[in-house]
Amino acid sequence: MMRRSDTQYDRSEHGLRKCPAREARPQGTAASSRAGRVVPGPVAPTMPRRAARLAGLGTTIFTEMSALAQRTGAINLGQGFPDTDGPPEAIEAAVAALRSGENQYAPLPGVPALREAVREHQRRHYGLEPEDVLITFGATEAIAAALLGLCDPGDEVVVLEPYYDSYAACIAFAGAQRRPVTLRPPGFALEPEALRGALGPRARVLLLNTPHNPTGRVLDRTELELIASACRERDLVCVTDEVYEHLVYEGRHVPIATLPGMAERTLTISSIGKSFSFTGWKIGWCSGPAELVAAARTVKQFLTFAGGTPLQHASAAALRLAPSHLEVLREDLRAKRDQLCAGLVAAGLAPLIPAATYFVNADVGTDAVRFCAELPERCGVVAIPTSVFYDDKQAASTLVRFAFCKREEVIAQAAARLASLGS
Ligand code: PMP
Ligand code: GLN
Repeated sequence: MMRRSDTQYDRSEHGLRKCPAREARPQGTAASSRAGRVVPGPVAPTMPRRAARLAGLGTTIFTEMSALAQRTGAINLGQGFPDTDGPPEAIEAAVAALRSGENQYAPLPGVPALREAVREHQRRHYGLEPEDVLITFGATEAIAAALLGLCDPGDEVVVLEPYYDSYAACIAFAGAQRRPVTLRPPGFALEPEALRGALGPRARVLLLNTPHNPTGRVLDRTELELIASACRERDLVCVTDEVYEHLVYEGRHVPIATLPGMAERTLTISSIGKSFSFTGWKIGWCSGPAELVAAARTVKQFLTFAGGTPLQHASAAALRLAPSHLEVLREDLRAKRDQLCAGLVAAGLAPLIPAATYFVNADVGTDAVRFCAELPERCGVVAIPTSVFYDDKQAASTLVRFAFCKREEVIAQAAARLASLGS
């Protein structure tokens, strides 16, 4: 076994270079030699530098694909972010907050105006009266804080797959295990046996996402009842990610907290990013029973404490805008969905029309990982193989996720490029 002193590091113009300890090498630095002292050089690590919990976590697929798009000059239908801004009124509110001295830490639970706006939102849209509200750095931080605050090592988290990639990472950070419930194309319906099969004796949290990324499904009432009854019977906490709550084109989003016996065991997460086209603001929140919100808050205070103060004020202003703003955005996205789906059909790819979100999956009839790797070169478009969101890679091996939250002319150009694939 290698001992700590068996290998040492030396500096070269290329950075750190390994060299054997017993090789003749200058002892100590020039300065320390002059002073007549020998200062030991840095010692070699005897164990890996990265924590074991990072195993399997490379760079996120979104970062990777956006970098690929930039490198190749391809149209980026990979990462889901709009290429237009949200309501100017909210931007003006951000500017006003910046100019009026709202530039210091926020209170840990969040700026009162935004916490009140979230309460009002939950009441107005769903008739919910959460006991507490915590403002976070996007839904992403709320997910992390919830899982770290609610899971002990060895606990199991039941999660729908395909799943948003931060779920797996945060479950691992908590030392918990994920138990996926596979949603299969083309319908991506929740199968009762799949849910039952994932409910082991160590199940503690059920992590739900509806409207669902990447399938674009809105879970229906029967599916929600199934999940709710599993949570009640097994005394599970439900953490529900509803960031696409307002981007629903078919059907209706029903928050699981509105089902009988669920408000008292559900932590509901959402954010400003998708509902108002401000994904870079990273203002999110969780709401629900005081005990669950407190668990997330305890973690959140040491992850980031509280900031983004001007954007919290602006987010409060956005939430208070007339509901017509949400409708206009939804109708605009519906048209973009239809435009891209028509383009995919014309290109000979088979889209599974999504009921919600920014995304459409299309069956490309061949290995999707390879298809996506070659797509920028072949026609100047970037998209994501849906299997990256699955543990069971075979469940969607020919599906590709395309984002349609882009300007009409960008979608038109992407569609034209995809159509060239067949020629
Ligand atoms: N959950 C899902 C399902 C998502 O698709 C995303 C990506 N926007 C997030 C959470 C992260 O949301 P936020 O940008 O508010 O952190
Ligand atoms: N939610 C976005 C998507 O699914 C990406 C968010 C991110 O880049 N982390 O594309």
